[in-house]
Amino acid sequence: MTKISENNYQILKLGNPILRLTAKRLTKDEILSPEIQKLIPKMWEVMQDAGGIGLAAPQIGISIQLAVIKLESDSDRYDNLEDSEEFVVFNPELKVLDEEKQGFWEGCLSVPGLRGYVERPRKLQINYLNENAEEKEIVVEDFLATVFQHELDHLFGFLYVDRLNSTKDLVFEEELANIAREKLLD
Ligand code: ZN
Repeated sequence: MTKISENNYQILKLGNPILRLTAKRLTKDEILSPEIQKLIPKMWEVMQDAGGIGLAAPQIGISIQLAVIKLESDSDRYDNLEDSEEFVVFNPELKVLDEEKQGFWEGCLSVPGLRGYVERPRKLQINYLNENAEEKEIVVEDFLATVFQHELDHLFGFLYVDRLNSTKDLVFEEELANIAREKLLD
């Protein structure tokens, strides 16, 4: 089992090799262990402190297949969101239900200051274990589908920059307002 310290967690940045590992799947017993049950609220705390809408355990240096996701309507980082439920996701399996791609300007707490326009399938089925180690099956679409694919990519060593069609689709946040306007007019 990965050693989890009680200390404050720092968000790892692009270039840190932990972000490139395939994270370890946990058993149901491991999910229910005090160590992991204590980690889950810590994940929410780190995510909310950073203003994120999702966080994967490898981003705080813990290479296990755990991610938390919650869309917030009052997010500072993303406009026009509706609140979603809180998802705690272990050992996910993704199945594309609609290959049609949709593009969004994605950001990542591990790639601060940048945004990238990434196209991903618009509808998926996700099977996973929740915080009680119960088997869940959900269908996600639209922006939530992108957020799931982005976060779950972290569990397999991928970042959104790997999913860009072109490095021309990578920009600084402060340049985004102009470019996003053009993309919307496409
Ligand atoms: Zn990310």
